[in-house]
Formats: sequence, C-alpha cells, structure tokens
Amino acid sequence: MTIYNDALSSFITQTFAPEDNSLVHIREQIEARGLPDITVRPEEGRFLQVLVAACRARLALEIGTLGGYSGTWIARGLPDGGRLITLEVDPKRAEIASEHFRLAGVDDRVEIRIGDAHSLLPELSDEGPFDFVFIDAEKEGYPAYLRWTVEHLRPGGVLAAHNAFRRGAILDPEDQAPVVVATREFHQMVAQDPRLLATIFPAGDGMTIAVLQGA
Ligand code: SAH
Ligand code: MG
Repeated sequence: MTIYNDALSSFITQTFAPEDNSLVHIREQIEARGLPDITVRPEEGRFLQVLVAACRARLALEIGTLGGYSGTWIARGLPDGGRLITLEVDPKRAEIASEHFRLAGVDDRVEIRIGDAHSLLPELSDEGPFDFVFIDAEKEGYPAYLRWTVEHLRPGGVLAAHNAFRRGAILDPEDQAPVVVATREFHQMVAQDPRLLATIFPAGDGMTIAVLQGA
C-alpha cells in the first residue's frame, strides 16, 4: 500500500515549504510572462535546499534555469560565500531569472550562463569540483549530463535530477518517446554506477538523487 498522496504532499508543503513573497511572485511571473509551467513544486524546491545544506555545498551547478524558481531554493541552501552557477539556453528566460534572483536577494551568489549546456559544461570543468549538481534541462541530454557530473562532483557531493517519473510514462512499455527512453536510460546508468549511491525521492514528478561515494 502506498500512503503518499496529494493531501500528504500538501501537508509537507504547508508545514515545511511555505513560500515567502519572492517565491510566490516568481511563480506568478513565470505564468504571467508565458513561461511553461514546468517549475519544480515548493515541496521539491525545499528538498533541493535541504540536500544542498546536508552536503554542505559551497559550489552548486544547475542545468536548466527557466525562471529561477528552483535556483532560488538551491541558492538559499548555500552558506554565505557559496555560489550557484546555472545554465540556460534561452536568453529571454535567463533575463527573467536574473530579475527573480535579484528579487529573492540571492543575486550575489548566483551566476547565470547563457548557452547550450552541452557546450558550456566543458568550459566549467576547470571550475569544479562541484558539491551539488541539479539536472533539469532537456531529458534527451540527461545521460550526457550524468557522465559529466560523475567526473566533476567531489566525493560526498550530491546529484539531483528532476522529472524522474515523467508523470508515470517510464513504466508504460508502449511509450518509446525519446524523452522517456532517455529518462529510462538515465535511471539505469545511475542505478548501476558503482560510484553512486542513488534512489528516487517520489514527490512531485520524482527526483533522482545520488551521492558520489569515495574518500
Ligand atoms: N529548474 C527550473 C525549470 C527548468 S525547465 C525550475 O524548476 O525552476 C528546463 C529549462 O532548461 C528550460 O528553461 C530550457 O530552456 C532549458 N534548456 C533546455 N535545453 C537546454 C540546454 N541544452 N542547455 C541549457 N538549457 C537548456
Ligand atoms: Mg523539471
């Protein structure tokens, strides 16, 4: 029996993940300015913030900024002096996110880099190792993002990746859409990599999480 349901999800959100005015405003603006409604939910944002703090991250990376909602949660898990680098291919979205980071008071610790993450990541190799990496861009890129991440996380560092469930499509054998196939491949890679200790946090659309093991 699975006990988890929408009511329990709401309980978590209300009790542990209440949004302050900035987060409410960011979500409203994402809708008002016509960005897609694919931002993480408060419950997931809070989970990211807790993960960042739990691994004492000082240098974090996000792949897929959109309007800066998840980035704000991540930035708020960092200590003073911590940094988040977030990658976004769409300059208009990056501009909106930049406004939102200012509004949320985290612009001093967040740097947005505009471009295709597949081109930006090699340039970031020298800036690591990273303590925390959040993957949330195009799903077909997840296997490549994972390969880069395991090489650039510090031991004890944490990886999180959004949309693990694809709203349940990963379990439908008829569904061979490239996004779904790539998501399944990503799960197999994460689960079978001996360097990673991994699972899925089953709130929202599912968050794959993994710790890079080793001293
Ligand atoms: N993490 C955000 C949501 C990200 S949505 C949040 O929860 O608040 C995914 C974003 O990734 C989109 O804005 C999209 O433009 C961006 N994206 C897609 N492919 C990309 C790529 N190859 N490189 C960089 N960004 C990409
Ligand atoms: Mg997502």
